[in-house]
Amino acid sequence: MTQRILIVGAGQAGMQIADTLREEGFEGEITMVGDESVPPYQRPPLSKAYLYGEADEESLQFRNQKFYDDNRITLVLGDAVVAIETTDAGGVATTASGKTIAFDKMALAPGSTPRRLTIEGSDLDGVLYMRSLADAQALKAHWEGAQNVVVIGGGFIGLEVAAVASKSGKAVTVLEGADRMMARAVCPITSAYFKDAHERRGANIILNARIAGFNGAAGKVAGVRLEDGTVVPADIVMVGIGVLARTEVANLLGLELENGAIAVDEFAQTSHPLVVAAGDAVMLPNPTGAEGRVRLESVQNAVDQAKTAAKTLLGRNEPYRALPWFWSDQADLKLQIAGLSTGYDQTVVRGNPEQDAFSVLYYKNGRLLAIDAVNQVSDFMAARRCLTNGGTIDAAAAADSSVALKTLISA
Ligand SMILES: Cc1cc2nc3c(=O)[nH]c(=O)nc-3n(C[C@H](O)[C@H](O)[C@H](O)COP(=O)(O)OP(=O)(O)OC[C@H]3O[C@@H](n4cnc5c(N)ncnc54)[C@H](O)[C@@H]3O)c2cc1C
Repeated sequence: MTQRILIVGAGQAGMQIADTLREEGFEGEITMVGDESVPPYQRPPLSKAYLYGEADEESLQFRNQKFYDDNRITLVLGDAVVAIETTDAGGVATTASGKTIAFDKMALAPGSTPRRLTIEGSDLDGVLYMRSLADAQALKAHWEGAQNVVVIGGGFIGLEVAAVASKSGKAVTVLEGADRMMARAVCPITSAYFKDAHERRGANIILNARIAGFNGAAGKVAGVRLEDGTVVPADIVMVGIGVLARTEVANLLGLELENGAIAVDEFAQTSHPLVVAAGDAVMLPNPTGAEGRVRLESVQNAVDQAKTAAKTLLGRNEPYRALPWFWSDQADLKLQIAGLSTGYDQTVVRGNPEQDAFSVLYYKNGRLLAIDAVNQVSDFMAARRCLTNGGTIDAAAAADSSVALKTLISA
């Protein structure tokens, strides 16, 4: 009988695992260990409303203390699991502060950590990252007095920070190493639109940027030096060049990894029979049912996969099948993505990029695969519903944006 469940990682997925365990009627002990000193909170606002000053720290928290008390969820915060002994029936975890926690089953939800730069000057004050509340607090502490903001990496988080900087009247330069922005996630049409849209809002965007190092003065960053000799002035540099799965605890357990992430099956089961895993740290079978394995760094995946993981812990194995979706708010631009566009062979644009309202639909062999919607919530909702139900939308008909997408859904 499973009486004691230990959750390692008190973030989006860890919180959802605890929630689902109680919703599913689990009456035993739940202990959640998190190495940050604050109770579980939402990360998405950190690079948006929190940085802009529209959300405070309290509003980020998922739940208040009463919830944890009422649901008998023991939070161990500011402490990390650093050692584990297991038997066939459970184990004992030891934390950095020396606490021992006995468990029958364990869930890993350790998230990820920003990829760091190690070039000359990387340790100067003002070279910052954005993953945790502490990171966001550090950025905010430097923010007020900063006029020149440089963002390294034109991915979602980098562009969200750049958008807040432009909106706050700061001079912002985005340095992207590739020949287009958000290249891993969106097609060239969406990338080109976002470059233009950020430039129209005042950002300076440099693609194919080759960074040589940081210039400093009195221990503080003063500029970013490019290989061609250009120096971009900087009071703050926010580095957003991707994340690495946190696998410290998986390594303690000798779990199977894949591409540096924790390998799980469709039930969120790891290679250890007592251990499940969910969220950013995990490599999983494509949840759309398509071939291959993926790593998904999104709230939707953390939440939905955590539900699967919790049910597996209780022996109610249900395969994880959910349509991936994601959003990124970049000032007044709301980008919403549903589905995975990998392998697309056709795109259809609806609406008007010049008016900051359009969608790109991705097709493979004539069937809808995914959508990028910019300030087009109704298109996003229609495509998401269509893909969730295994439907499609005729490509030629979709190109006529005077027709509502939801009326074009077919089986
Ligand atoms: C700034 C920012 C903006 C984002 N914006 C969006 C967005 O707009 N839309 C979207 O869909 N997604 C967004 N995301 C992504 C989303 O927040 C993540 O996908 C989600 O938080 C992943 O949940 P997780 O539980 O896997 O990891 P996390 O939420 O990172 O939680 C993992 C926790 O485990 C802790 N931990 C790790 N190892 C240990 C250990 N050994 N012992 C104890 N604790 C440990 C970590 O410190 C962390 O607190 C954003 C992320 C960031 C950082």
